[in-house]
Amino acid sequence: MANIKPKIVLSDLTYDNQEERAVLSVLRSRWISLGQECQKLEKEFSAYIGVSNALAVTNGTAALHLAFASLNIGQGDEVIVPSLTFVATANAVRYTGATPVFADVSSLDDLTISSKDIERKITKRTKAICVVHYAGYPCNMDAIKSIAKKFKLYVIEDAAHGPGSYYNGKQIGTLADIGCFSFYANKNLATGEGGMIVTDNTDLATRIKYLRSHGMTTIAWDRHKGRAYNYDVLMLGYNYRFDEIRAALGRIQLAKLTKNNKKRGRLNTHYVNLLKTVKKVKIPFLNRKEIVSHHIFPILLESNVNRIKLMAALASEGIQTSIHYPPVHSMSIYLDSHKTELPFTQIVGEHELTLPMHPRLEFKDIERVVDVLKYSLDNIQ
Ligand SMILES: *Cc1c(COP(=O)(O)O)cnc(C)c1O
Repeated sequence: MANIKPKIVLSDLTYDNQEERAVLSVLRSRWISLGQECQKLEKEFSAYIGVSNALAVTNGTAALHLAFASLNIGQGDEVIVPSLTFVATANAVRYTGATPVFADVSSLDDLTISSKDIERKITKRTKAICVVHYAGYPCNMDAIKSIAKKFKLYVIEDAAHGPGSYYNGKQIGTLADIGCFSFYANKNLATGEGGMIVTDNTDLATRIKYLRSHGMTTIAWDRHKGRAYNYDVLMLGYNYRFDEIRAALGRIQLAKLTKNNKKRGRLNTHYVNLLKTVKKVKIPFLNRKEIVSHHIFPILLESNVNRIKLMAALASEGIQTSIHYPPVHSMSIYLDSHKTELPFTQIVGEHELTLPMHPRLEFKDIERVVDVLKYSLDNIQ
C-alpha cells in the first residue's frame, strides 16, 4: 500500500457543531436575508474591535468599494495603495472610476506600505490612501495619518488580514476613516463569503448603509417587521447586503477569534524559533512586539532559491504553500503601472513563500514543515 502522508494545508476552517447548530437555527427561523443575525453580528463585531458603527456586507471587496464610494471618490481622483496586496484593494478603487497609484512596501523586514513612498506618490489628484495591514501587522499609522492630515487625504484600512491586531492599544480597522474586513473562507473569521465595513463617523455610516442596499431608505427587514410601508431611493446604491446564514456563522467564528488568533501566535513563534537560523530564509517582521492576527506566515527566500521547485518539493510531501503576493502593479490589467518602480515589492513578489498557518495546526506540523523545507532547500537544484 502506498505511504499516504498527512496533508498540511495552507489554511483550514475551525467549524464544529456550534456552527452547524447556528445555521440550522437560521434555516428554521424562515428569515434568511439581512435581519437580526446580521444586526447581532454587527453589534458584537463593533464591540469586539472597538468602533461605533459596523455594517455587514457581501464580501471584503464590496466593503472596500463602499468605503471609496461613500467618500465620493471617483473619476479623476487618485488613491494610493500598496502593490503588495490582493488585487481587490486596487480593483475597488477602479470601480469608482478613480485610479490606484501604487506605493512600495517599507523594507524586506516590514512588508507594509512605505510612508515615505506614499508621500512621493501624492499629486493634486490624490484623495485617499488605502493601507493594507499585511499578515495582520499594522502599518506605520502615525506617520501615514500625519501625511494624510498634511495633505487633507482620507485613510482607508484594508484590514482583511485581521481582525484582532493591535496598534498602540487600538485594533486595526479602527485607526483611520474607514476599516474594511473580509470573511472569505481562508480568513481568520470565515463565513465563506462576507465582510464588514466599520467607521466611527456616524454620517458616513448612514451613507454606507444606504449604499449597501440600493440607496433605499428602508430595508426589507423593517418592512417585514411592520416598521415601514414605503421607501425612497436617495442615491445610486448597490446590493451588497449580507445574509442570516453567514451572519450566524460569523457570530460563532467571532466568539472563537481571540482563542484562534492566540493559537496562530504560538504557531508563529514556533516557526520563528525553528527558522531563524536556517540559511537561505529570511523572516520578515522579526522584531515586532504587537499582538497581531497572524493571518499568514510569510518567509523570504534567498535570491538563488528556485521557488517553483521548492513549492513542488513541499507539495510532494503533502505541504501546501502559496505566494503573497504577485504584485498588483505587474498584472496585465494594470499595464500603465508596469513602469512604476517598486524595488522592495518586486523582490518580495519574486522571493516570498507563504507556509501553512491556521489554528488547527500543531507544533509537530510546524516541525514537519520546517524539516521538509530545510531538506528541500539543501536538495533542489
Ligand atoms: C481577501 C482580501 C480582500 C478581498 O476580500 P473578499 O472578501 O475576498 O472580497 C481584499 N484585500 C485583502 C488584503 C485580502 O486579503
